[in-house]
Amino acid sequence: MDTKVQQDKGIYLDYNATTPVDPKVFQAMEPYFKEFFGNPASAGHHWGWLAENAVTKARAQVASLIGAKSSEIIFTGGATESNNWVIFGLISKLREENPNEPIHFITSTVEHSSIMKAMAAAQKMGVEVDFLPVNSFGQVEIETIRKAIKPHTKLMSFIWVNNEIGTINPIPEIARLAKDHKIYLHTDATQAAGKIPVNATEMGIDLMSFSAHKIYGPKGVGALFIRSKDPKVQLNPLIYGGGQERGLRSGTLNVPAIVGFGVAAEICEQNLSAEFAKLTNLREFLWTKLQDAIPGVRLNGHPTERAPNNLNITLPGFKTEQILPRLQKIGVSTGSACGTGAMVVSHVLTGLGMNVDDVQCSLRISVGRWTTEEELLRAVEILKNSLR
Ligand code: PMP
Repeated sequence: MDTKVQQDKGIYLDYNATTPVDPKVFQAMEPYFKEFFGNPASAGHHWGWLAENAVTKARAQVASLIGAKSSEIIFTGGATESNNWVIFGLISKLREENPNEPIHFITSTVEHSSIMKAMAAAQKMGVEVDFLPVNSFGQVEIETIRKAIKPHTKLMSFIWVNNEIGTINPIPEIARLAKDHKIYLHTDATQAAGKIPVNATEMGIDLMSFSAHKIYGPKGVGALFIRSKDPKVQLNPLIYGGGQERGLRSGTLNVPAIVGFGVAAEICEQNLSAEFAKLTNLREFLWTKLQDAIPGVRLNGHPTERAPNNLNITLPGFKTEQILPRLQKIGVSTGSACGTGAMVVSHVLTGLGMNVDDVQCSLRISVGRWTTEEELLRAVEILKNSLR
């Protein structure tokens, strides 16, 4: 192993893009690559039962994090997959039932690309989609949604915590509106689950996507919550095959990753309020130091209704494209890490009404479980020097 790289690993401040796997998660996963390698669908022997038991436990852990029943959790390959499934699984179901009925979906202009692009694809399939504007903090307002509802609206999909700006949408309030109109509410809770209190059952959410790698679990595994009662939500299967995941998402389960997701969820649930407080303090510490060091720095997103771990800032007059290469050993990002790596102007920041110049001078900084004040002080110093 290259020890130099190990010693000089820099300061990672991009926890919204992904998180390292918690050592306890890694430890729990390891045996499921080795001695407990069985296929949970092998119902006839010990190896299969061990794997199945592990998946059952993980499903309960993941369900508990979001206040759901185990039977309402379907494991997927991540939140991108869950988001796509909601849109295309619902269109397919609705068309099967009423081939000639028009379909209308509502979403916003600041969603993750896996909703934005899937909704655009839905439009090409003849679905009417409204991309609602948000206020200058990035929240979709109840009145805006109310006005957009049509007799044939079947789905509303809104991001809970925005991945770029950290703003929290009023999901429980939106859920009440959706229920009054008998419209399904889906929320992309990828940046919410494990960070803020989430109770899908009590908050009246019908469908919810989330992912393990944002909560110190492994990459390539996520979940879709599908409400089973009041209402019983119906989606067509995502993938057909051997009938795994109640026939909704076939394919041999990724047992080690699912086990890791379960443990990661359990750790987050147990430490939610302590971690929320710790991250909020770190974020506030960073924001104070940034304001001291960089006159004119501005905060994007909501000042208080925001994820505990995220800051999105504008450094007026300093193009991020030029600053980033000077920050080599600090892992921050211009916005979402989910694009192709090309410098694209963030649709989220323009969605807030920001002009393109300011958008190009904006940075996302997100702290996490292992961030320290000392690292933040060093990062602010390096950032300040990079502006000289
Ligand atoms: N939605 C949001 C809000 C996200 O932040 C991300 C990850 N960047 C995704 C969806 C996609 O998640 P995954 O990487 O698990 O596909």
